[in-house]
Amino acid sequence: MAEVVGRVLSVASECVPLIKTGGLADVVGALPAALGELNWEVSTLLPAYSGLMAKLSAPAEVWSDADLFGGAARIFSGSIAGQRFLFLDAPHLFDRPGGPYSIEGRDHPDNSVRFAALSWSAAMVAETGLSDGWKPDIVHVHDWQTALTPYYLTRRDTGTPTVLTVHNMAFQGIASRQELEMLRLSTDDYNPELLEYYGNISTLKAGLVTAHAITTVSQTYADELMRPEFGMGLEGVIASRAEDTHGIVNGIDETIWNPQSDPGVTPYSAAKLSGKASNRGNLLAEFGLSDISGPLAILVSRLTYQKGIDLLPAALPSFIEAGGGLAVLGTGEPSLEGAMLEAAQRWPGRVAVRIGYDEALSHRMFAGADAVLVPSRFEPCGLTQLYGLRYGAIPVVSSTGGLADTVIGATPASLAAGAATGVTFTTIDEIGLSQALRRLVELYADKSVWTAMQKRGMKSDLGWRRAAQSYVSVYEQIQFR
Ligand code: ADP
Repeated sequence: MAEVVGRVLSVASECVPLIKTGGLADVVGALPAALGELNWEVSTLLPAYSGLMAKLSAPAEVWSDADLFGGAARIFSGSIAGQRFLFLDAPHLFDRPGGPYSIEGRDHPDNSVRFAALSWSAAMVAETGLSDGWKPDIVHVHDWQTALTPYYLTRRDTGTPTVLTVHNMAFQGIASRQELEMLRLSTDDYNPELLEYYGNISTLKAGLVTAHAITTVSQTYADELMRPEFGMGLEGVIASRAEDTHGIVNGIDETIWNPQSDPGVTPYSAAKLSGKASNRGNLLAEFGLSDISGPLAILVSRLTYQKGIDLLPAALPSFIEAGGGLAVLGTGEPSLEGAMLEAAQRWPGRVAVRIGYDEALSHRMFAGADAVLVPSRFEPCGLTQLYGLRYGAIPVVSSTGGLADTVIGATPASLAAGAATGVTFTTIDEIGLSQALRRLVELYADKSVWTAMQKRGMKSDLGWRRAAQSYVSVYEQIQFR
């Protein structure tokens, strides 16, 4: 085994395959193995949500605190599928029914305390190390839930280099100013330069100000964040840290997302695309769709305003008329779920909707689809367009954030250059989306162009190696300065 060049404590509130609500979990789950290939050793610290502890093999207690924000807590080290995990066992905060942040659609009332406690324990581990002697060289935290870690470390003057990755600026970790003391924040720091955010506390802001480096999940999103419409009140903070801010596009886990070995699908590849037709047939059958003469599109998404779901109903009529079909899988805002269900009612056999979260079904959908729709209003990175590329499902994306960085829109020039991988639209409204769908139908009608685009996407480099190399260069910059 090659010598370890650095040790990273990765701290997060979710991680594939243990607990997931969004793309953050995919990144936290996949990056350690890719960093491992570059001889960086990662331990991932997660809250021990209900039932999680049983998944840890050979757990060993490596840290404890008699009073972690109101109760006793311990950290157990162990491994899962070859990766090292640290589980923060604090039953008063994490052992409860519901999801990581909410139960039955309502946030847990003590979320600010729960994640401040996670951040605090991470800072303590970084400062003193674990009882088995392990101590990180770098602390890498993700989103508002862990963004207080760099703040605590800075206040304790440890000098530990920290990286904060912003997966979505829309979630800012807002807490009431009354909670300052409870969250172990200094009243001296309650000012606009640090903790204060429009009369409240923002944990994300605290992290943005105090982390040694900031990364976000695409270069375009990094640039967009400096503008008010994307920065959501924190654009000035990001702009003031521009030199320390890096855009690194996510990869995908190519062992999980591989049409040649995906357990639920008929295998196919860029070299042998024929299996895709059988997956398409299965998908039509599974969703009760009739034979669709045009492109069969899918949407796998949270059904929220961010994702541009409300643009679909107005854009669909001309697409359906042109022979297109649509299968939707998602959950989210009730009005948008309703709008999707209404579309299915309006076009039976042409549009079908599953309300729910179903990872295995999503794989079958990518395998069977001709196209995947991602009409987001903003999109830090986006993963479904990457799965689409890997599975030969042409992405139709708005030109924003990571979508702009990962899909090359089909124009006469990009087609002539042999570079096009999808369809992009820049004006993010109903007309923009409906024109993009029209373009999709045209491209689908030209089989040689279509197949060439599919193959180009399937062969493109979507793995984690490139991203891991970029993270390592960020780690090195802050470690040795
Ligand atoms: P976000 O993190 O904003 O939700 P991303 O595109 O970065 O968006 O990541 C979403 C992830 O969640 C992808 O892996 C996507 O396939 C998955 N996903 C979203 N909704 C569903 C669903 N209803 N069923 C299965 N997977 C879903």
